[in-house]
Amino acid sequence: MLRTTNCGSLDITAVGQRVVLAGWVQKTRNKGFMLWVDLRDRYGITQIIFDEERTPKAVLELAQTLGREFVIQIEGEVIERESKNPNINTGAIEILADQLQILNPSSIPPFTIENETDGGEELRMQYRYLDIRRAPVRENLIFRHKIALAIRNYLSNNGFIEVETPYLIKSTPEGARDFVVPSRMHHGEFYALPQSPQTFKQLLMVGGMDKYFQIVKCFRDEDLRADRQPEFTQIDCELAFVEQEDILKQFEGLTRHLLKEIKGVEVGDFPRMPYEEAMRRFGNDKPDIRFGMEFTELNKLAQGKGFGVFDSQELVVGIAVPGAAEYTRKQIDALIDWVKRPQVGALGLVWVKCNTDGSYKSSVDKFFNQADLQSWAAASDAQAGDLILVMAGPTQSTRTQLSALRMEIAERLELRDPNTFAPLWVTDFPLLEWDEESQRYHAMHHPFTAPKPEQLDLLDSDPKQVKANAYDLVLNGNEIGGGSIRIHNTELQQKMFDLLGFTKEEAQAQFGFLMDAFQYGAPPHGGIAFGLDRLVALLGGKETIRDFIAFPKNNSGRDLMIDAPTTIANEQLEELALNIRPIN
Ligand code: ASP
Repeated sequence: MLRTTNCGSLDITAVGQRVVLAGWVQKTRNKGFMLWVDLRDRYGITQIIFDEERTPKAVLELAQTLGREFVIQIEGEVIERESKNPNINTGAIEILADQLQILNPSSIPPFTIENETDGGEELRMQYRYLDIRRAPVRENLIFRHKIALAIRNYLSNNGFIEVETPYLIKSTPEGARDFVVPSRMHHGEFYALPQSPQTFKQLLMVGGMDKYFQIVKCFRDEDLRADRQPEFTQIDCELAFVEQEDILKQFEGLTRHLLKEIKGVEVGDFPRMPYEEAMRRFGNDKPDIRFGMEFTELNKLAQGKGFGVFDSQELVVGIAVPGAAEYTRKQIDALIDWVKRPQVGALGLVWVKCNTDGSYKSSVDKFFNQADLQSWAAASDAQAGDLILVMAGPTQSTRTQLSALRMEIAERLELRDPNTFAPLWVTDFPLLEWDEESQRYHAMHHPFTAPKPEQLDLLDSDPKQVKANAYDLVLNGNEIGGGSIRIHNTELQQKMFDLLGFTKEEAQAQFGFLMDAFQYGAPPHGGIAFGLDRLVALLGGKETIRDFIAFPKNNSGRDLMIDAPTTIANEQLEELALNIRPIN
C-alpha cells in the first residue's frame, strides 16, 4: 500500500502515530525554513509540515520543488497543530514529514482545484477529471451513488429483479428522434440506441419476470434545451398483474423511502390530481405545490364589460401575488416586460392592486369599477395587500404563460425552498393529443399506453376524450417519473397504431415482435420510469443535472473533454458503406 491511511481521517487521537499518506498537493506555503503542504485525496485534506529543525535537509529541499497537483507520498508523525482549523475534521493535527517521494509531477492546472474555483464551466468541462478532484463535484458523485444504491436496495427488497436490456436496438417511437448506429456487417442498415427500454420491459413481463427494474442509460436526439442531456439515466420499472393503484403505492413507497433515507424528510400520502385539474389550477401538468398563487378563471366576471382585450378571448385567468400591492410602477412594468419576452410570448398583463385600505387600483380602471375588481379579488381569494395579475387568450397558451409567470414570481419571492419537498401524482392524462402540424394524433405518453377500459368505445367516436391510466410523479414543479398501464392484447395495440396513423404494414414492420408476443399469453402489466439525474439534483437541492453527472455534455450536446462528436476516418466510412463526407 502506498498509504497507511487517507487524508480525511486523522484527528487529535492520532497524535504520536507514524503514518504514510499519499495524495495531491492542493497548495503549499513556503517560508524557506518551514513549508506547509495541504495534501488532498477523496477523503479530505491533511496539513503536512516540513521544517529546517526537524526535517532532513534533502527532504525539505525536495518539498520546496512541489507544485500544485503534484502526486506525492509522505511519511511522518502526527503532531498537534498550533493554530487549529475547526472547519475540517483533520484540523487539529498536522504531519511532521521526514520522508517525501514525488510519485508524479503535474503541469500547472488550468484552474484552481478548490471548493471555490476560478474556472468557468467550459474550462472545467474540458478538464473534468480535475474538476472531479474538487470537493463539491466529488460529493455530488458520491451523493448520486448513495441514491442509486438506496434505490437498488429498496427495489430488490421489494422483489424486483434488475435485468439488462440491449443498447443496440431498433427505433421505439417515444416522441424524440433516435440516435442511430450504422451496421458494418449489414450495409445500409442501422441500429437505434434506446430512448427507453419500453418494449423490452414489456417483453420481460410476457417472459414472466413479473417485477423488473433497471438503472439504465437512455438516448434521445432532441434539440437540446437548457439542462437536457442527449444521454441520461432512468430508473426503469415494470410490473405484471397490477393495476394503476398498485404502481402508485409501490413507487410512492420508493420516493418516500428516498426522502427519508437521503434527506431525513417524512412526507405524508402524496396528493393526486387529475391532469385536467392540474391544468385548471396551475396551468401546468407538473405543478409546484409548495406555494399557492393558484389560477382563478375570471371569464364570467371580466367579460362583457366593454374591455375588448378580454371579451373575445377563450380564457381570462389570474393569480393573486401575496403582498405585492405595494409594487411600484417600475416593478410591475418589469413583470410585463418579462412576460412579453419571446420565451414566454404573452401580449401583456392586466394588474389589480388590492390596497390595504380596501380600495382597488388597476390598469383597467376605465372598464371596471370597484365592485367589479372586488369580485375578482373575492374569486381569486386575494387579500388586502395582494396584487392580482391577469392574462387572456387561447386556453392552452395563456395557461402556459401564466404558469411561467407564477414560477418566476415564486422564484423572486423565494417561495421555492429547495429543502421543502412537495410530491404529487398527476393522473388521468389524455391518451392522445392532436398535432396541428402533422394533422394527426400523437400518443401523449407512448403508443403502448392503455386507454381507460371504460372508455374503449370512445376510441372510435371521439378519441380526443379518451383518458389513459397514465400518471406522472411530480416533485417541486419537476416531472420526476412517468408511466402507464399498458395495452396487452394485439387487437387493441393494432387499433392504437391505426389511430396514430401507422399503416398495418408499418405497424407490423416496426412492432410485429410486440404484437406477436401479445398472442402468447401476455399478462396485464404496467410500469413507470424515473429520471435519475433530475431526481438526484432535486434531492441535492440544485437545479442543474450536469452537476451530478461525472462526464456531462454541454448545452449543444458536445463532450468538451474528449471532443465528441467528431468526424471519422474515410476507411471507417467505407467499411460502413456511408459514402457521405463531412462538409468543411
Ligand atoms: N418508457 C417511458 C418513458 O421513458 C416510461 C414508462 O412508461 O415506463 O417515459
